[in-house]
Amino acid sequence: MPMFVDTSPPGECIFCRLVAGQIPSAKVYEDELTIAFMDIGQVNPGHVLVAAKRHAVTLLDLTPEEAGAVMRTAQRVAAAVQKAFDPDGISLFQANGAAGGQTVFHFHLHVLPRHENDGVSLGWPRKEPGPEALAGYAQRLREVLQ
Ligand code: AMP
Ligand code: ZN
Repeated sequence: MPMFVDTSPPGECIFCRLVAGQIPSAKVYEDELTIAFMDIGQVNPGHVLVAAKRHAVTLLDLTPEEAGAVMRTAQRVAAAVQKAFDPDGISLFQANGAAGGQTVFHFHLHVLPRHENDGVSLGWPRKEPGPEALAGYAQRLREVLQ
């Protein structure tokens, strides 16, 4: 069960308010399309969120320009995290929809510094269904890919 769930009504989205400066944040960086600020939960020191400035709920709601801008900002922030905090590794996490683990419904990407045995875990139950199933899944995707 997530510790934090944003149930704000539309128009009062917590990250829209943060972008507008209506609530405080520890800002790291901003440009025309993106903003980076410290995650209030700090899973490890240096944990940053990179958000789209415009209210887009999930990855699928971003424009291609916003999607590219978010990854550019994440790479810059990750380089700064590496210099400033010297972690053993860095994980990028990005959740879409409640079932995907999203708790704030305004697009954001986690830049998370990692350390050996830091307690972060993600269940990843492998199914290995075999080459025929893989070919079928790929075919389904090619048919709808735009
Ligand atoms: P997610 O579960 O991927 O939707 O992540 C939402 C994240 O937003 C959580 O890690 C929260 O700690 C973080 N968060 C919620 N409110 C704030 C805030 N006002 N400032 C910074 N981070 C926040
Ligand atoms: Zn928003």
